[in-house]
Amino acid sequence: MSASFEDFNFNKQLYSAIADAAYETPTPVQEKVIPSIMAGHDVIGIAQTGTGKTAAYLLPTLMKVKYLQGMNPRVLVLAPTRELCIQIAEHAVNLGKYTDLRFIALYGGTGTKAQIQALEKGSDVMIATPGRFMDLYLAGHFHAKEIRTLIIDEADKMLDMGFVPQIRKILEVIPRKRQNLLFSATFSARVEKLTAEFLEFPMKIEVSPQATPVETVSQQVYPVPNYATKINLLDYILETEKLEKVIIFVRTKKVANELYNNLNKKHKGKIKVIHGNKDQNTRINAVESFKNSETSILVATDVVARGIDISDVSHVINFEIPVVPEDYIHRIGRTGRALKSGTSISFCNEAEKFLIAKIEELIKMKIPYLDLPLDVDKEKTSFTESQGMKLEIDNQKKRLDPTFKGGFHDKKGRVKYGKY
Ligand code: AMP
Repeated sequence: MSASFEDFNFNKQLYSAIADAAYETPTPVQEKVIPSIMAGHDVIGIAQTGTGKTAAYLLPTLMKVKYLQGMNPRVLVLAPTRELCIQIAEHAVNLGKYTDLRFIALYGGTGTKAQIQALEKGSDVMIATPGRFMDLYLAGHFHAKEIRTLIIDEADKMLDMGFVPQIRKILEVIPRKRQNLLFSATFSARVEKLTAEFLEFPMKIEVSPQATPVETVSQQVYPVPNYATKINLLDYILETEKLEKVIIFVRTKKVANELYNNLNKKHKGKIKVIHGNKDQNTRINAVESFKNSETSILVATDVVARGIDISDVSHVINFEIPVVPEDYIHRIGRTGRALKSGTSISFCNEAEKFLIAKIEELIKMKIPYLDLPLDVDKEKTSFTESQGMKLEIDNQKKRLDPTFKGGFHDKKGRVKYGKY
């Protein structure tokens, strides 16, 4: 039986917004989650970005708060990053455009003045990062006593970023009697512990078996010996394949900047970079121009890219393999979204093969290895880079077996890292 939005008994305002957004049928997560939320249950939703999870919690919540009321928020959505915060707020404004509900986004990395001015006009639905919420709350800019719905989005990321103490403080200042909704891409033991802390008899809803990548993404790995060869392969792929919109993922800001500078020579005007050191406006502009297809290549680090809603991405390139396997799922979640197909290409050096194996364990499938194309020049591995990789392999082995002494360490026990 396939569900229809009509089954949910939303109001006219929401149906008009759904029609404008051209959502024809509910996605699986929406089909499963919306009735439980409407019925007032606490809900744990295990769903990746790209599954329609945001609308799954926003639509029933907007239905419940219905219209403008008083000065203080009645719904609080907590998100780990400012990007996600902005994106959820945009989504909420879109879905609530025929209501008179007031939405407010509170996030750090930017001054408080505009946010305080917005608070003075009153709000119904607040979307916030934990730190900025608490700062403005403690400074007395709003009351939290009318919050009846708490939504925590990307709970696993919240944990990774060490937000638990702040969430606990927030739980102390909002009413005990409320509905709690928690969304997470993965359901790790830590997420489970967090849910046990504050959800009451939650309904646990998983849209796909845990950590299964969206089925519409085709995945492949190229073994590449070193950084310089990765650059050659990237050049080759950008030139020969028809990549409409590509996100290139790296681990660090340093590599992000290097890669951006390198690619910007050939692809000037078509490429942007986002990472944690870029200021808020630069990050927003980079995402906006990519979304509007003014630029077609985005270089990004995991922390910043997590949760950003960019649809229509044709390719994700993992220039570096993420150390945390779950990040791989988030990365490839950028492509193959909302029923479109996508491709993920991973560049993997000797040390990163271990990480690919961990990812394969997590996603419960093998990712095919392809041969390096003949036209791609293989560069020599520099001494420092080779040392860095050997050390990384040693560290991986040590993690698996703490008694492992290491096949490689320099005499003084110090190793200089190269690119990795
Ligand atoms: P999310 O997983 O919330 O980040 O949503 C991913 C994308 O799917 C967003 O661009 C949504 O606007 C879109 N989306 C959400 N619900 C639907 C739906 N029922 N039909 C088509 N697209 C949707």
